[in-house]
Amino acid sequence: MPSKPTFEELKSGDRLPSLKGAALEVFRLNQKEEVTNLEIARAIKADPALSGRLVRAANAPASHQVRPIVSVMDALTVLGLNMVRQMALALSLVDGNRNGACQKFDYPAFWSRSLLTAITAQKLVFRKGVGSAEEIFVLGLLGQIGSLALATAYPLEYARILEQMPTDADTGLAGLERAEFGLDHNQLTRDMLADWSMPQSFYKAALHHEDPAQSSIAEGSREWHLLHVLHVANYFARVCLAQEKQRQTMVPKLIFRAARLGVESEMLIALGDKVIPEWQEWGKMYGIRTVAMPPFAKLLAVAPLAPETMDEMAAPRSSAAYKLRILLVDDDRAVLLMLRMLLENAGHTVIVASNGKEALGMVEKHMPQLILADWIMPEMDGVEFCKALRQNDEWRNIYVFILTAQESTDRLVEAFEAGANDYMIKPVNSKVLAARLGAAQRVVQLQEELEFDRQQLHKLATELAVSNERLQQMALTDVLTGLPNRRAANEHLEQQWAIAERSGRPLSCMMVDIDHFKKINDVYGHKLGDDALKRVAETMNLSIRKQDTVCRLGGEEFLVICPDTPAEQLYRYAERLRNAVAEIELHGAHDRGFHLTVSIGLASKEPALLNTEMLLQLADKRLYAAKNAGRNRTVAELAPHS
Ligand code: GH3
Ligand code: MG
Ligand code: MG
Repeated sequence: MPSKPTFEELKSGDRLPSLKGAALEVFRLNQKEEVTNLEIARAIKADPALSGRLVRAANAPASHQVRPIVSVMDALTVLGLNMVRQMALALSLVDGNRNGACQKFDYPAFWSRSLLTAITAQKLVFRKGVGSAEEIFVLGLLGQIGSLALATAYPLEYARILEQMPTDADTGLAGLERAEFGLDHNQLTRDMLADWSMPQSFYKAALHHEDPAQSSIAEGSREWHLLHVLHVANYFARVCLAQEKQRQTMVPKLIFRAARLGVESEMLIALGDKVIPEWQEWGKMYGIRTVAMPPFAKLLAVAPLAPETMDEMAAPRSSAAYKLRILLVDDDRAVLLMLRMLLENAGHTVIVASNGKEALGMVEKHMPQLILADWIMPEMDGVEFCKALRQNDEWRNIYVFILTAQESTDRLVEAFEAGANDYMIKPVNSKVLAARLGAAQRVVQLQEELEFDRQQLHKLATELAVSNERLQQMALTDVLTGLPNRRAANEHLEQQWAIAERSGRPLSCMMVDIDHFKKINDVYGHKLGDDALKRVAETMNLSIRKQDTVCRLGGEEFLVICPDTPAEQLYRYAERLRNAVAEIELHGAHDRGFHLTVSIGLASKEPALLNTEMLLQLADKRLYAAKNAGRNRTVAELAPHS
């Protein structure tokens, strides 16, 4: 059991793999500001093996040389300074450590994976200011050098640790290392890269690249980008070198991790197909073992992409202060999955669609409060989707974010004109997403409150209108008979009077009063009196013509208003009514049947009558005459002497 050493002790004990000879010199020169080809060539020539390989590489068919290259200087010109630098570094480390004393450490596999990580990382850096392709290559190649170092420094102990590791585990090793040696391969890598004067961002990336969640680097920063480039590149290499069966479970995680970096499925396929042949070519050149890979499109197509397969990503569900119903629209299933997990972990409810057309159907069905829609999609893109969405008035309050790649931000005006509320840049930064959603949520909530108030107001207004109408109705209707009451009668008569006045058409009315009604009440009781009143009202209402109106003026007195009816016709018409009432059969106690009669006074509009009051007075007078003449009759004209 070794005592727990510090990096300095390991280094001074000369137990670490180190750059030697020509490679070290090239590496040193590399740190200098102005280095010439001549200086580099001189350093390389000190190592005949390295020189020979460089010359061979320069003559490789890919370099399309007409004339064979024979000198290092020519190779430098053909391959370029950076390429030569990389090759020198890689060759030196690989050559010095092809094999070693640690029985369980797979040296060829280590270099194979490191080389693939290096090539992949180089292709993944698309953000300015993160590092040059050559630098990233070196970082990729050396990003796990700590493992090799542990195997070199403690061949026996490390072999024991590796033996404990299940073959398919890709986590847990660091913990065992720390327990045994007091530091793990990532920490050792960091110390070695620092010792080789690499930029700080490089060795910080190396330290956390296996588990970026452990780092406190701000999401979206350049350092974050570098860290994730190394993370994805390393995992990519592990996927390629894994056994078939294990690979299947790793691919979904790879897709997910790449998506976080902004590398969507299509890009990942293109990347894989480009990187593998290069890896194989470099492998041949360096004598490093590589493997054949199926086309990446095939590899990715069969990968199940569900949150369940992302066990490691499942963060504890936070109970967000607000919950939104969110519709995600993106044609890339990796992006969909990633965003969905981010949002669900934040406590939101998420539904997904893979293009604008499908999304419209989802809106119809689920009525989301907020939509995150990708811009570029097949079938119907984000902007067309927005336009279609805003056509529907019910959907005008849905808050829409358009997701856009950095390059397409200059066309944003288009998105806003189509009805988007805001936009977010891909790859989506989880902190930015949370903040933007918070702001959107406030808008959504305000709008919902407004909408609620609007609906309440509308409901109130409707109720008020209904109750007003009921009040109106009540004020104008006689409760017992349901006929218009005196007030309604007056209003209606005034109206008809005005119409007749204007049109010159006739207008008549009848004043109807039940004979000896007091007696009915006295003999049969008030209840039967009420029934009798209802029957009379009903009968008259059924017997009048469509344009006429029967009203109850009060007590047992009714007024029939007859527009368009000349005096000549009125008498006959009144008699018909009188007879109809007379036919009503009423039944008192012990089934004693009896009948009612009415007396009627008539009046028609004539020039001598100046208003409705005079018309009613005249009808009343004639009714009185009818009573005096013995009741149960109609009087159309007063006798000359009265
Ligand atoms: P006349 O032939 O002269 O019209 O005699 P009448 O008894 O019909 O006339 P009068 O005006 O003296 O009496 C009317 C009676 O009608 C008085 C009242 O008891 C009765 N009456 C008025 N309104 C109602 C009512 O709503 N229900 C009942 N049951 N009776 C009513
Ligand atoms: Mg009466
Ligand atoms: Mg009366």
